[in-house]
Amino acid sequence: MGQVTVDRAKKDGTIVAGIFPNTCYSDGKFTFHLGPNTADDIGKTGSFTVKLVTDNYESVTFAVKITLTAKDNQDAPDPTAFDVVFTNDGSKLTATIKTKLKGVEYSFDGKTWSNVNTTAVAHLKDVTAYLRYKETDELNASAAVFKTVNSGHGKLVHHAAVQATCQNTGNVEYWECETCAKYYSDEAAATEVSLAEVIIAKTDHKWSVKYTYDKNGHWHKCEYCDAVTETESHVSSGEATSAKAEYCTVCGYIITPKKGGGSSGGHVSGGSHSRDNTTERNPSINGEQKTWSDIAAALGKQNGGSATISLNGETTVPAEVIKAIADRKIRVEFVYDSTKSWLVDGAEITAVSAVDLSLLPGSVDTSSLRGILGCKYRISADIPAEIRFAFRKQYAGEFANVYKLIDGKLVFQTCVKLAEDGTAVIPGMSAPGEYAVMVCRYSDRQGDFDNNGILDIYDAVALLRYSVGLDSGENLQLIDLNGDGLVNCADASTVLRWLVGLSA
Ligand SMILES: [Zn+2]
Ligand SMILES: [Zn+2]
Ligand SMILES: [Zn+2]
Repeated sequence: MGQVTVDRAKKDGTIVAGIFPNTCYSDGKFTFHLGPNTADDIGKTGSFTVKLVTDNYESVTFAVKITLTAKDNQDAPDPTAFDVVFTNDGSKLTATIKTKLKGVEYSFDGKTWSNVNTTAVAHLKDVTAYLRYKETDELNASAAVFKTVNSGHGKLVHHAAVQATCQNTGNVEYWECETCAKYYSDEAAATEVSLAEVIIAKTDHKWSVKYTYDKNGHWHKCEYCDAVTETESHVSSGEATSAKAEYCTVCGYIITPKKGGGSSGGHVSGGSHSRDNTTERNPSINGEQKTWSDIAAALGKQNGGSATISLNGETTVPAEVIKAIADRKIRVEFVYDSTKSWLVDGAEITAVSAVDLSLLPGSVDTSSLRGILGCKYRISADIPAEIRFAFRKQYAGEFANVYKLIDGKLVFQTCVKLAEDGTAVIPGMSAPGEYAVMVCRYSDRQGDFDNNGILDIYDAVALLRYSVGLDSGENLQLIDLNGDGLVNCADASTVLRWLVGLSA
């Protein structure tokens, strides 16, 4: 139809508009293009006048004014609408930003942004993840939200507890990050522990309860290696007669067979260490082997005093024997073997029945207790009694702390000081259950601050002296009795309250 001419009236900044060669108009349509602009041009204006030349009308003139405006902003994403999760392939950890939001972009430094929502990270590092809405044709990129999360570890390797022996070190239960070689006492890797805390040093030899013997004597073997104790001479039971052989009262070895009997050498029923090769199994009272009925009769005739009955491998004491001593002033030592005896005071027996005096090996986990393991037993006897244990002499003066398994937990029962020969007479193991006896230079009795095995006024005194700096504490693990993190007169008062029975 006609020709278009454009007068550029104003050019402000870099806003560019212009006529393209041979541009025409027809049917009232006219097109033009804006040239490239930058953010710096926001707010600037360009304008021009267009003149449309026609044949039949006067030329049509109009002005075009263009102002470059800023884009609108958009709100930042909801900071709770994204998460950072860590995955691992055994060694490498990868952080991934997870969100259901659309039109977002990601950054791990707050500066460079992209559609990549993952990055490799180190163990135990704080990782900050950023998220924002992307720029669109109409809207600017939003402000960013971010969160910082610790990467933790990759897969932790679980190591079960291993008991130390004389041959090998053991370890407590722990978890290890194979990548960064750190050790933890818990599966969540919350508490780091050192290698030294994990490893349990090799132990002394563990001498078998059973004796090994030959004609010259008896000895203990180590359960883990070939070490043996010094050979001790047999202890004679008395001269052999036609009724009984001369045997070793410690290991059961038959020194001289019964007079007139055919057998020579061998072994009598001599306690728990001899059950495999027992042919006769009579208990003995005061050194003489007898039937249980004869023993019951002998006890019945005895007027008070004490008696020693060697069980010689028997474990069940019949009711007739218990009946013979029940409610009478007779103290009976039932010798279980050379290291263990049951001490029963007839006067304390109120119910008569057969008693199983077995001391079966226990299986409770004592790794949480301090000291060395003295012994673990499963006891089924239910009789008022004490047990005398002969521990190794080197522990004389230390404490035997007795624990019983109650509702899955080891609960402190009592504490007994070992005598000079290493023995301890332990009360309170006479109800059925699992027991553990730990030998330790410290008493585990709560409040036993002066470490003498009993709770008395001196504990309160010693504690007060310690709290004001007059004394160094002996049994320091036990002194913060009220658990307030301080050792002070409040703890001493707790001891005093226990002494007068005000609190448990
Ligand atoms: Zn790690
Ligand atoms: Zn050994
Ligand atoms: Zn012997």
